[in-house]
Amino acid sequence: MPERTTLAERYAAMRSSLPPHVNLVAVSKTRSAEEVRALYDLGQRAFGENYPQELREKQPLLPTDIEWHFIGHLQRNKVKYIAPFIHLIHSVDGPELLDEIHKRAVAVNRRIGVLVQVHIAQEETKHGLDLEEARALVQHWDPVRWSALELRGAMGMASNTEDAAQVAREFTALSHLFQALKNEVGAEHPRFDTLSMGMSGDAPIAIAAGSTLVRVGTALFGPRT
Ligand SMILES: *Cc1c(COP(=O)(O)O)cnc(C)c1O
Repeated sequence: MPERTTLAERYAAMRSSLPPHVNLVAVSKTRSAEEVRALYDLGQRAFGENYPQELREKQPLLPTDIEWHFIGHLQRNKVKYIAPFIHLIHSVDGPELLDEIHKRAVAVNRRIGVLVQVHIAQEETKHGLDLEEARALVQHWDPVRWSALELRGAMGMASNTEDAAQVAREFTALSHLFQALKNEVGAEHPRFDTLSMGMSGDAPIAIAAGSTLVRVGTALFGPRT
């Protein structure tokens, strides 16, 4: 299918499939700066990357009004590479990483948005906190310790399975936690408004479960090589 359609057609189809309250992050890992630029020229401004080194090399080649999202597993010693420009880090998995992001944000005089990554899949390999750990991290958020960070919400990846009912159950569990936390901490964190769930294969299920942001690569750029 991707071979027979153009990027412009795939982008238009994706945009029209999303309800107005759902944001689109175009996942550009492994794609060249030229490929990112082509989608930028069609109007896309939010892009997501998984590897700090790759992002660090790509970012200076592209327009400065791109909103960069970091969606991959983030090692503490790599935070410094992305702190000067990153908009939102989706993959926060504990206080130590928050301390490092805070420190690097202060060093470059920025405020950085973060999402708590929650492990909802059956697979062992997916990163993140379990639902209870994520709840505790948000409930015990220290606004002084992390004054350079803005807590924006939660992120999760469902199991890589054909079983749509299982995927829906996993997204729904995260959505319930997100809504509960939003009610609890919304006064302290007025921008706790982002639930990052859904990729090319499961975006419609994620949106039905309450996603406000989908991270889509393959359905826009075609298969990764
Ligand atoms: C690669 C990746 C995506 C995009 O996956 P596609 O199937 O290409 O849409 C979304 N989220 C995360 C965390 C990823 O690593």
